[in-house]
Amino acid sequence: MEYIELEKLAGDVGFTHIAPLDPGTIRLKEDVRKMCEANTCGRYNKCWSCPPGCGTLEELSRQIGEYRGGILVQTVGEIEDSMDFEAMMDAEKRHKQHFMRMYEILRGIYPKALAIGAGSCTQCKQCTYPNEPCRFPEKKINSMEACGMLVLEVCKDNHLGYYYGPNSIAYTSCFLLE
Ligand code: SF4
Repeated sequence: MEYIELEKLAGDVGFTHIAPLDPGTIRLKEDVRKMCEANTCGRYNKCWSCPPGCGTLEELSRQIGEYRGGILVQTVGEIEDSMDFEAMMDAEKRHKQHFMRMYEILRGIYPKALAIGAGSCTQCKQCTYPNEPCRFPEKKINSMEACGMLVLEVCKDNHLGYYYGPNSIAYTSCFLLE
């Protein structure tokens, strides 16, 4: 699929921004994983999509290293100020909807597409971690941060904006395509 077609598809799905992603620019960092350990989101050690259940940086790096192309996708929403949690949650919800829809379409074209999202996997009400294996390994979504990516850096290295001003919030995800 040509990039221009991916761009149109992403726009039709509802993303506000898209950019080509060169997997060669992705650097997985121990420091980012350390931020997960601080557990501010409450998902550390609670889900197969979050550290340590999502795998070591070496394992994730090997997985990402199998891809030669990809795209970054964003949903940018408007907020009144930094306390406007309702608008933030609404933008996040829309981003997840766009992301899952895009993933469904891309999997029909690229069966081995790897989706890396924003936030912990929410496919199941209750994750099976750590007692049972993941229920839907083919649908499990790791977040960019859980993989050790500094999202700001990945965006910068691939010529995509990250900060759109004080009255906006951006959610970023990516798809790696064979
Ligand atoms: S698909 Fe379900 S079991 Fe697997 S990581 Fe996601 S929430 Fe957990």
